[in-house]
Amino acid sequence: MGLFKKREYIRITPSQSEKKESRQAKPFVPDGSWEKCPSCHKPLHKKELGQERTCHHCGYGFRIGAFQRLNLVIDEGSFESWDEDIAFRNPINFPEYKEKVEKVKKQTGMDEAVVTGLGTINGQQVVIGIMDSRFIMGSMSSIVGEKITRAFEKATELELPVIMFTASGGARMQEGILSLMQMAKISGAVKKHSEAGLFYITVLTDPTTGGVTASFAMQGDIILAEPQTMIGFAGRRVIEQTIRQKLPDDFQKAEFLLERGFIDKIVPRNEMKDTLALLLAMHQKRG
Ligand SMILES: [Zn+2]
Repeated sequence: MGLFKKREYIRITPSQSEKKESRQAKPFVPDGSWEKCPSCHKPLHKKELGQERTCHHCGYGFRIGAFQRLNLVIDEGSFESWDEDIAFRNPINFPEYKEKVEKVKKQTGMDEAVVTGLGTINGQQVVIGIMDSRFIMGSMSSIVGEKITRAFEKATELELPVIMFTASGGARMQEGILSLMQMAKISGAVKKHSEAGLFYITVLTDPTTGGVTASFAMQGDIILAEPQTMIGFAGRRVIEQTIRQKLPDDFQKAEFLLERGFIDKIVPRNEMKDTLALLLAMHQKRG
């Protein structure tokens, strides 16, 4: 019966000082110096992300604030911000909505989830709008809709092209149906801008979903996207449950949509400014 019995060996218990030594021998990694790429899940040292904050393994552009992005695209000192003072309203008296907006305003330094205005890219004048996913997931409020609509109207008046950087979770639930109405309102202004023969570029950044995808994000004359950007309307789980089918792994990624013709080009963040400048130059109205 002793066949499977374990053989006894001498057991050595490390002394307290030895235990301490082995703990100290562990490599020291300061907290917060590494990040994991949300797209390819590989570890990255913060220094490797650089000013553009991109993953050098897969090209994914980390989520950045609207003003940070503005600095990467617009010529220094050329930006003039528009419509920062549209008064806040709580149209359906959603509980604690005002407090939430006040808090996010303080955290982000933004007046709403989009910055709009006039600037130059390599010397060419353009009306630009940049959404910020840090502001209640870049959701579309009445103010967001109004700012973007006014930006298109002013661009039409000034006969200027428009560039919109999108980043949004979709509708602002706290504003109910008024949020959805912004899709039609903005689309109307985009159409008038287009009918005036003016040029519109959209740049889809992570994430571009919901009502924004269903309206102005996909109405550009040219649609660009950053690598590995999540682009879609409804979420993956909702679609899978509805159609009762498993979706491919890269479904709703910019690369998947490029292959199927939904977007025109995937542009890495460090090439974005020059690409936009080239497109603007190619589509300039000749006098
Ligand atoms: Zn990556």
